[in-house]
Amino acid sequence: MKNCELISNATEAFRNFMSRRGNTSDMRDLIVRISVTKPNSPMEVALENLKSIHLSTLVLCKTKVVKKHHPIMRLEIATFECVGCGTKIEMLQTSIRVKKPSSCPNSRCYSKDGSDFRLVSAESYFYDYQVITVQQAEKKMKVVMTHDLVDLAEIGDTIEILGIYTTEYEHSETVKKDSFYRGIIEANNIKVLPSKL
Ligand SMILES: [Zn+2]
Repeated sequence: MKNCELISNATEAFRNFMSRRGNTSDMRDLIVRISVTKPNSPMEVALENLKSIHLSTLVLCKTKVVKKHHPIMRLEIATFECVGCGTKIEMLQTSIRVKKPSSCPNSRCYSKDGSDFRLVSAESYFYDYQVITVQQAEKKMKVVMTHDLVDLAEIGDTIEILGIYTTEYEHSETVKKDSFYRGIIEANNIKVLPSKL
């Protein structure tokens, strides 16, 4: 088991525990954040030393925030409504492009095969999402912050990030580079440090 699975397993266990205790809030808003309290953690790695061997593992990086993008909302579970008959369909969204139903499941729907769907925002699940850029020495990297981590760090802050090192497709408008990916960190937790690096 890769150590990044610890987070999803811990989150699942926590949600089950809260559910058994009669918690009625939306389980998707219950998240487990991990904190490292001792110095010299084996997870600590310098930004410039992050390589493919670290992919899908938890890493701890001390670095400086150099850029901050505006927070946006990301759609995770979409509820669509068939324009023809009003049937609602819930769909988990896993990629950047929104996945819509291919056809209406209602057998009596007159527009079954050519149906159009509209997103019902009020019955869909969105979460806050923000990208920041961090830098250590010459190396810059994007970090994805979600939920309550959004807007925790400001430009110029020195932060400690605990997150999963993963990949993002390398976009290029001039050269086709389908097999090139860039490393990014999906933050599980961040700590703003009082002193500069
Ligand atoms: Zn329909």
